[in-house]
Amino acid sequence: EFAILHGEIVKRSEAKVDVEDRGYQFGDGVYEVIRVYNGKMFTEHEHLNRLAKSTDSIGISLPFTNENLKGLLVELIEKNKLQNGIIYMQVTRGVALRNHAFPTEYVTPCLTTYTKKIERPVDSMRSGVKTILTEDIRWLRCDIKSLNLLGNVLAKQKAAEAGCFEVIQHRGQEVTEGSTSNIFIVKNDIVITHASDHLILKGITKDVLLVVCAKNNLRVEERMFTIEELKQADECFLTSSTSEVMPIVEIDGNKISNGIPGPITRKLQEWFGQEIEKQCGS
Ligand code: PMP
Repeated sequence: EFAILHGEIVKRSEAKVDVEDRGYQFGDGVYEVIRVYNGKMFTEHEHLNRLAKSTDSIGISLPFTNENLKGLLVELIEKNKLQNGIIYMQVTRGVALRNHAFPTEYVTPCLTTYTKKIERPVDSMRSGVKTILTEDIRWLRCDIKSLNLLGNVLAKQKAAEAGCFEVIQHRGQEVTEGSTSNIFIVKNDIVITHASDHLILKGITKDVLLVVCAKNNLRVEERMFTIEELKQADECFLTSSTSEVMPIVEIDGNKISNGIPGPITRKLQEWFGQEIEKQCGS
């Protein structure tokens, strides 16, 4: 297995960072997860653009262009013979003497990247998954794909302890997103999901799906919705790069859409599958 460290492909066992890396000490960095199907990246431009947006938003200037990065990722996929899986990329502010304020001297940002094999979650995509509600205790810049994931980690652990796949987070009555996914409901054939503001991550899967909805004349509302609307929804699903379009069939022990994936959710899964096919072949 190989990994990327500072723009070089190295043996994974040699991709080591210092104990004073600011990502390690402060979570002072950002990351991306890019899906790979049949050895080809899916929506890599969108992911690399989001990575650039994340680094810009916290004042890290990456010493690589998207073209450089893409070339490196293609090489890494080949070297690791990755067919189906993910690429994990992380950029931290770099290594410096521990001090909360940014280093005053120039420090090279630390880019690390590795790959992991995973298959499409076909069984749970067919059966749907269980979820629980939990208060969203995260900070107010959830639009940055930051390494500070403690809020998400604690939320996901609650789901794990409840035997659930994911949490549905809410701020008071307002539903925001999952711990690692965006949340959608369907009511009277309208697809509803939180607007991509500072309270949620602007998911690439979410955006692909919104385009797919528009193409198929499905009405979409990107707006705040409440826990009450969630409970009254006809269908519910989550989206992420690894989970694709994942039906939610239970919330806090109560069945939604009779405990089976709804018809619009299944249609969206099929259309999303066609987008994968288009970009990455079968
Ligand atoms: N929200 C959060 C908090 C996430 O961690 C993720 C997964 N990256 C998403 C939403 C979904 O984003 P994407 O579709 O780009 O994977």
